[in-house]
Order: sequence, then structure tokens, then C-alpha cells
Amino acid sequence: MKPAAFRYHAPKTIDEAVAILAEVAAEDGRVLAGGQSLVPTMAFRLAKPAHLVDINGVEALARLTVAEGRLAIGACVRHAAFHRPVCAGPLGTLLADVVRHIAHYPIRNRGTFCGSLAHADPSSEWCLVMAALDGEVVAKSARGERVIAARDLFQGIMTTALREDELLVEARLPLLPADMRCGFYEFNRRAGDFAMAAALAAYRVQGGVIVEPRLAVGGAEPSPRRISEAEAALAGAAPGPEAFRAAAAAAAAAVDAMEDATTSAEFRRDLVLAVSRRALERAAASA
Ligand SMILES: Cc1cc2nc3c(=O)[nH]c(=O)nc-3n(C[C@H](O)[C@H](O)[C@H](O)COP(=O)(O)OP(=O)(O)OC[C@H]3O[C@@H](n4cnc5c(N)ncnc54)[C@H](O)[C@@H]3O)c2cc1C
Repeated sequence: MKPAAFRYHAPKTIDEAVAILAEVAAEDGRVLAGGQSLVPTMAFRLAKPAHLVDINGVEALARLTVAEGRLAIGACVRHAAFHRPVCAGPLGTLLADVVRHIAHYPIRNRGTFCGSLAHADPSSEWCLVMAALDGEVVAKSARGERVIAARDLFQGIMTTALREDELLVEARLPLLPADMRCGFYEFNRRAGDFAMAAALAAYRVQGGVIVEPRLAVGGAEPSPRRISEAEAALAGAAPGPEAFRAAAAAAAAAVDAMEDATTSAEFRRDLVLAVSRRALERAAASA
């Protein structure tokens, strides 16, 4: 099927893009980034935006910068930019590991990091990374600019705190200390499919015990989130099978697992147990 008719806008600057959005948002105007989620839904006529604001010609949105202890990812930075570490230390290595799990190579060449955040699929790897590492995004409209923390951004299945006239200008992730151990693990039935459950673990070791633990789960609930019960099981424990099993069990018990036509909540909860333990084991192996 072909998409329904729409008007195409091609701004060259951020100001121009937000000015157009201010005009067309009320008439279902949408931002077009990589188009890897939006265009298929338009082709199936599940979405019929009256206006598309194509941001690919806005040069200022294609930047990846490291400054003030964080990585800033502009709205037009593609998934493929992360195939090699984009910054020194554990963050660059982690992102290069995670990106391999997103869709397939051609999709990674077009789809964008920020588009994934705006789309907010519960299984999105980048949404999980943002939740796990307490990232934030900058949203801009003709009314001004605001910073939204990842924990406030994701509000349910494909639902975010972004308003219709807001452009997600950039995402920010904190750089990680050199001794931060990080591990990611996801399960899907076929390589390239969306994850049925995924986990990201990060922690440091001081005096032989785990400090600053993070364990976040994606694909199991409507939005990815850090699981405080699992992190409590890790804090102060010696890194190893016993602590990892206890934290994974705490994560599985804490999630309110989603159910769909092919996956029961019980099975997804079991997957959370498995992906959490494996993410922790990978973090240990990254030392
Ligand atoms: C076969 C297939 C498999 C896939 N597998 C995965 C997977 O395993 N994991 C995964 O995470 N994704 C997967 N995807 C989705 C892919 O990663 C998309 O690239 C991504 O979800 C959206 O990014 P985009 O740049 O293509 O956004 P678009 O498709 O251009 O936009 C998506 C939505 O976000 C809005 N939007 C985009 N950018 C902005 C912005 N800067 N500000 C405000 N709103 C914005 C758009 O208006 C639209 O509503 C898959 C896609 C396909 C087709």
C-alpha cells in the first residue's frame, strides 16, 4: 500500500524545524528522522500524518560530541555511528556492543538513536541504555527548550513525555568511569527481531564488593526501567554467581511482565531472570 497524501517540509536549521512544527503539529505534523519506524506504519496506513517535517537536512543535528563528562547524540545520528566506539572508556564499548542487536545493517544505516527514543518501543535497546544510565534528552519547540530525564521521558508503549510540537534535539549519556563493568544481554527468537526481554547491568568493584550497581530491564514492561530490588541485592555483595542469581531473581519478581499472542507473562518473567543474570555475567567478564 502507498502512504496517504502528506505535505513535505525540509527545514535546514533547528529554528526552522521547530517553527514548522509549531504550525503543523495540531494537524498531525510529524518529524521524519530515519523513517525506519514511521514510513512502514505510513505504508500500512496505520499512521496518516498530514505533514512530514524531514530533519535530515539540518546539519546541526548530525553531531556526536563529548564534553562536560557526557556524550551528546544529535537527532540525526544513525544507529550505525555506534558500530565502533564513539568515545573512550566503557560507554563507547557498551554502545558498540548494544548496537549490533538493533534490527539489521540497512536499518541501522538509516534509523537514528533519537528516533528510537521518540518512538519508544518497549524493546528498544537505546531506550534501555538511556533508562539504565539515567540519560536525558533536550526537547525544543517554538515555546522554548527543556531537558527531560529518561525516567520521565518513557511513559508507556510508544508513549513519551514529548509534546506534539517538540523536536527531540539531542540525547545525553554520562561518560562512565574506566573501572565501570558493563554487560548487555537480550533474547529474541531470530537475530534482528525486537527483544522479548533485555537487560543492561553496570557496576564498580571497591574493596572486593559491588558499588554503584545498575540493573535495568527492557522489553518486559511497557517502558524500560532500573529495577531497584535487583540493585539492592547487588550493592555490597561480592561479584559472582550467588549475587548475580539473587539480583536476577529480584528483577524477575519485580517486573509486571507483558503478555502478547506469542509470549505469556510467565515465560517473559523467566526471560527476565535469564537475561538479567547473563547481563551481570557479561559485566563481570568485561573487567
Ligand atoms: C525490520 C525492522 C526491525 C527493527 N528492529 C529494531 C530493534 O531490534 N530494535 C530497535 O530499537 N528498533 C528496531 N527497529 C526500529 C528502528 O530502530 C528505527 O530506526 C527506530 O525505531 C526509529 O528511528 P528512526 O530514526 O527511523 O525514526 P522515524 O521512523 O523517522 O520516526 C519514528 C517516530 O519518532 C518520531 N521522531 C523521530 N525523530 C524525532 C525527533 N528527533 N524528535 C521528535 N520526534 C521524532 C517520528 O515522528 C515518528 O513518530 C526496527 C525496524 C525495522 C523496520
